[in-house]
Amino acid sequence: MTIDWSAVEKEAVNILSRYLQINTMNPPGNETEGAKFLHKILKKEKVESDIYESQPGRGSLITKHFGKKSIPELILLHHLDVVPVEEKNWEHGPFSGELIDGEVWGRGAVDCKSLGIMELMAFLLLKRGGLNPEKHIVYAATADEEAGGQWGVSWLMENHPEKLNAKHVINEGVGFGLKTEKSNLYLCQVAEKGSCWIRINFTGRPGHGSLPNDENCVIDMAKAVQAISNISFPVQVVSPVDDFVKGIAPEQGYMPEDVFLGLLDKDRNSDVLRNINDKAVRQMMMAALKHTAIPTVTRSGARTNVVPGECYCEVDCRILPGTAVEEVIQKIEQVLTAEGCRNFSIDFKQIPQVSSSPVDTFLYREIEKSFNQIDSKAKVVPFMSPGATDSRFFREKGIPAYGIQVESSIESAELVHGHNERVNVGSFVKGIKFFYDLTRKLCV
Ligand SMILES: [Zn+2]
Repeated sequence: MTIDWSAVEKEAVNILSRYLQINTMNPPGNETEGAKFLHKILKKEKVESDIYESQPGRGSLITKHFGKKSIPELILLHHLDVVPVEEKNWEHGPFSGELIDGEVWGRGAVDCKSLGIMELMAFLLLKRGGLNPEKHIVYAATADEEAGGQWGVSWLMENHPEKLNAKHVINEGVGFGLKTEKSNLYLCQVAEKGSCWIRINFTGRPGHGSLPNDENCVIDMAKAVQAISNISFPVQVVSPVDDFVKGIAPEQGYMPEDVFLGLLDKDRNSDVLRNINDKAVRQMMMAALKHTAIPTVTRSGARTNVVPGECYCEVDCRILPGTAVEEVIQKIEQVLTAEGCRNFSIDFKQIPQVSSSPVDTFLYREIEKSFNQIDSKAKVVPFMSPGATDSRFFREKGIPAYGIQVESSIESAELVHGHNERVNVGSFVKGIKFFYDLTRKLCV
């Protein structure tokens, strides 16, 4: 079948734009509206799907599988929910879905409604071309990823495990590639750091704001925030990161290859990091090589003239494979004590575990080939993401899951959860071609 790609572009942009207009901001999520939207499109093309609600309004959609073999080859996964917006900071409405100068605007344009429509279009193109995707592939759009997946993939795994069983999964990837002189690097997310969200509670002596108070808990908290942000965890090279650094070393243009490989050497690492002059790349490398502990929330006091008796701060810790969460917490405890912080206690909030998938699978090799199909300068490099996605639930069950990002420009990374999120139509269509090429191979 020859495909009229300009017609596909028009159709896909229209669908994406309408999808972005559905407000699935989590909380509260309201994902059922998004699921119904996709259900209607699939139904028109005679693809059957079901919507499963974990809570009223918290729906996830999964297409029916009519394979002869009981387990589908692949699940094409994305999440329906999006993170909140600060509307006043947006140049165009976050739920407008407007197409402006070759870009479609809206919360979810990058993370990850565009992925959902790339996957959907590939699925529909296969169907229209006479192939039967429902024999090999399941299309799934799930709730609650942005809040940890409790009411989405996690709930589905518990209540309808057979619906999410497959040989492989393709999901969102937060690894934005790099364009270098030699090649366009695409990062395939094969692993994710674990996270540990901690809350540090402080108590002190409450009192009037007009009186000096040497047991003011706000001061202890401020010291703690400062001390935590000064922690530099030692470099640890774990296997997916070793592959990642070695994969990009010959391509990057920041420094000679052998100098760049110094990232893997604990003695040279800090110097190399300092010499990477691209801030986004430097940040990505630091996150890949070390545990991180980033203070994000502080809560204290209600009135200017009252010294509170208690307050807390929260810290987002991301942990490399092979380290127990307790070790990192212990380190934080030691640092706070050394800094003279008093009367504090630490609570854990949430722990998605480290997860990883092998790179020596059939699907990984096909992913490489499909990237080469859409971009002759493509080079695919395995990547460990500092953040967790729903892929981890599949990896826990032994199902290899890969996170794909078709945008080979690291600048787009800033749009994820940021203001003015938008997707370039060129990249979006490239993504449809990628998914069409990849899934077609599974259907013939
Ligand atoms: Zn996402």
